[in-house]
Amino acid sequence: MLTDYHLHLRPDDVGTTPASEYFTQANADRYLEAAAEAGIEELGVSEHIHRFSESLEIWDHPFWRENAVDDLSEYVEFLRGANLRAGIEMDWISGKEDRIANVLDRHDLDYVVGSVHFLRDRAVDHDVYDVWEEIADPDKVWALYFETLAQGISTGLFDICAHPDLVKVWGEGRPAPRRDLRFHYEPAIEAIADTGIAVEVSTAGWRKPAGELYPADAFAEMCIDAGAVFALSSDAHVPEHVGHGYERAVEVMRGWGVKEIAVFDRRERRTEVLG
Ligand SMILES: [Zn+2]
Ligand SMILES: [Zn+2]
Repeated sequence: MLTDYHLHLRPDDVGTTPASEYFTQANADRYLEAAAEAGIEELGVSEHIHRFSESLEIWDHPFWRENAVDDLSEYVEFLRGANLRAGIEMDWISGKEDRIANVLDRHDLDYVVGSVHFLRDRAVDHDVYDVWEEIADPDKVWALYFETLAQGISTGLFDICAHPDLVKVWGEGRPAPRRDLRFHYEPAIEAIADTGIAVEVSTAGWRKPAGELYPADAFAEMCIDAGAVFALSSDAHVPEHVGHGYERAVEVMRGWGVKEIAVFDRRERRTEVLG
């Protein structure tokens, strides 16, 4: 089986364009058709939590305030009617565990994709709020990223750990850490082993300056030693990116020794044969 669980029906730069322009059956069908063509049986949407007004119950950040306009209940209802799995891309924000749990508990989701985009109030993948402007030392940025990720995973709030090594997103656009990357990965791997969270393989890394699959081979190998299960996604923001790079990704995963992928239904997980 092939899945694509980490998808956005709304592009990132739409600002406050109303959800009604994107959460339509016609738009969903464009993604479903692209999935059918790519042989993807399970298609789910995981819109960013900061798109929804409820996100402001979790965190007050200027970027979220700017974007938090959609209604989360209407979104979930739309997905259920549109033959799409209902997911959400939920940021892990340190110290907000109870607030995140409250929002998640209110909605009938198939899975929760957990992401770390922000380190304190600075972003790892957003140049306006760039963490690198605040912390210049790459080993400090990487250490903080993976410690934050480990903390988020350990809460047990998330089903899938999204783009696990997102901190590399800028590639050569930011300085590389001096320490062995495995040293930085360690806290996250420990949390993955403890919780059994599914680790996302995301082909989006190939479309970013990093030019590399999320996660890197060394991270994946450590996950396999820890007994982790993987989920497969493209993080598409347009239908053309659904299943992007999947042939190559499946080959890479087989090279790691992965034979199964995680499949979700109302937050219950099972595994299916990969491919
Ligand atoms: Zn993300
Ligand atoms: Zn995403």
